[in-house]
Amino acid sequence: MTQYELKTMSPEETSQFAKRLADHLQPGDIIALEGDLGAGKTTFTKGLAKGLDIKRTVNSPTFTIIKEYKGRLPLYHMDVYRVADSLEDLGFDEYFEGNGVTVVEWAHLIKEQLPSDLLTIYLYHKEGEQRKIILNPIGPRYEQLCKEIFQ
Ligand code: ADP
Ligand code: MG
Repeated sequence: MTQYELKTMSPEETSQFAKRLADHLQPGDIIALEGDLGAGKTTFTKGLAKGLDIKRTVNSPTFTIIKEYKGRLPLYHMDVYRVADSLEDLGFDEYFEGNGVTVVEWAHLIKEQLPSDLLTIYLYHKEGEQRKIILNPIGPRYEQLCKEIFQ
């Protein structure tokens, strides 16, 4: 299992990396974002949205759980922090099987409801504005995606 790692030195750099990744995304792609509060999950998602040509401002969907944006591909932005202990069926499947790209902040909290193949991205807060970013592709689609980005 190959992991990919990089370091960013500013929010702009994290956003720029996400934008670059967005260029390689396809309908149905799923990205799980993990990291503590303030690690940069939403910052990453904002950059990814730019890369998908989404004009609207992307904000943390903490209180709405799921927000949908129109772009080159639709973006389904989820923050499941607050649904952690709820077994409520929020219809996630419809998004995972949809024509857009799904980004899930705090994805491990709905682990049982996630597809097995996805790209997990871990963000770690280092000193100041430094972040360590680790990409963990599961399944052939995401292994290919990482190869394209890091080639
Ligand atoms: P999360 O969604 O993980 O809680 P946010 O993206 O909302 O995190 O917040 C990250 C905060 O850290 C923002 O205020 C952002 O400007 C700041 N930040 C500083 N350095 C970085 C970096 N290298 N990458 C991403 N965010 C950074
Ligand atoms: Mg967030």
